Amino acid sequence: MPEGSAGSTSPPGPRSREPEVRAYAPGRVNLIGEHTDYNDGLALSIALQLGTTVSFRPDPAAESVVVSSDLAPGRAGVPIDTAPDDDAAHGTRVTGWASYVAGCVWALREHGVRAPGGRMAIRSDVPVGAGLSSSAALECAVLHALAAAAEATVDRRTLALIAQRAENRYVGAPTGLLDQLSSLYGADGTALLLDFRSLQVTPVPVTLGGAVLLVIDSRSPHRNADGEYRRRRAACEDAARRLSAPSLRYVRDDGWRALRGDELRRRARHVLTENRRVRDAAQALRDGDCTRFGELMNQSHHSMRADFEITTPGIDRIAETARDLGAFGARMTGGGFGGSVVALAPAEAAMRIESTLPGLVADAGDPRPTVIRVRPGAGAGPVMAQ
Ligand code: ADP
Ligand code: MG
Repeated sequence: MPEGSAGSTSPPGPRSREPEVRAYAPGRVNLIGEHTDYNDGLALSIALQLGTTVSFRPDPAAESVVVSSDLAPGRAGVPIDTAPDDDAAHGTRVTGWASYVAGCVWALREHGVRAPGGRMAIRSDVPVGAGLSSSAALECAVLHALAAAAEATVDRRTLALIAQRAENRYVGAPTGLLDQLSSLYGADGTALLLDFRSLQVTPVPVTLGGAVLLVIDSRSPHRNADGEYRRRRAACEDAARRLSAPSLRYVRDDGWRALRGDELRRRARHVLTENRRVRDAAQALRDGDCTRFGELMNQSHHSMRADFEITTPGIDRIAETARDLGAFGARMTGGGFGGSVVALAPAEAAMRIESTLPGLVADAGDPRPTVIRVRPGAGAGPVMAQ
């Protein structure tokens, strides 16, 4: 329902006397540990210095949140009694991008916190659909703002679970907890070792000397990512069941050998070896050993390509080109079938990658990638009103 321009903070409505609340949540880049989250495994990620800011002016008399985003035209209405099942017994279901906001309103209510209606404005500099989790940045910022407006205190682990529920059950994307935990627990200069079995988050200081972390967005559309994601997830669950384990986390490192069928063995092998690589990478980071960290990134990419089969020829070319230009290592990051590559490179190689990689990839006939430098940034939280 278009209703004028979107994007700026809305002035108070005539009935609203509540102060505005603001919250921020960053996107994230996963350094290593792909498709491990829903297997109770491990990942090592950082929150970015790119994020989403939500300004919310509650109106206790309002029955809906009127929401605008600088990334989408017009405004959308989210009834505060919204629910994922759209029938007479439940609330109205919201579709489109505002379903992320609606999912948060619903999942928070399920947790016992009823968000007030009001006006919400969203601003973001997280690239959408690039594997940097603009969706979790949106959810976590919205949840922080709604919880603050409802004067509720919700701890970060619970917020992560609520955000995941919003995305899984309301939006309908079957994602694990990696994105939300990274966004909520991020800290300047710190990577996060995430254990999805215990939900423990261990900070790992990032000391790279002069080395640079790059995110290379392939800008190629995702190919059937949702369907393939579901299939990989189902294969992992099948492998665990056949091994009589609650999940692959409970299987020993070489447990995949006991499986029948080449494809299932490779799927399980990716997850089991990836968990090992995450542990080793966290140690390499603590040691400031960029060479070792890069080797593990390359091994992870190989495992995603050959065993888990979630890369694309374009993504493989980008990772390979980054290595050819002198990166310590490069790997696809995110769910796969498109998205971004993360690379760790010495300063000089980083400049080479920035200046020549996009042209080399475009010359090979792929979309021209964009390259950005990233550093670990702060996690989600309230923002003081200006
Ligand atoms: P990713 O999380 O990797 O960026 P997803 O497909 O998981 O990609 O989420 C992207 C979707 O999230 C967008 O298509 C849009 O619906 C929603 N979204 C994310 N950020 C915003 C925003 N700032 N404003 C509106 N919608 C957003
Ligand atoms: Mg996402």
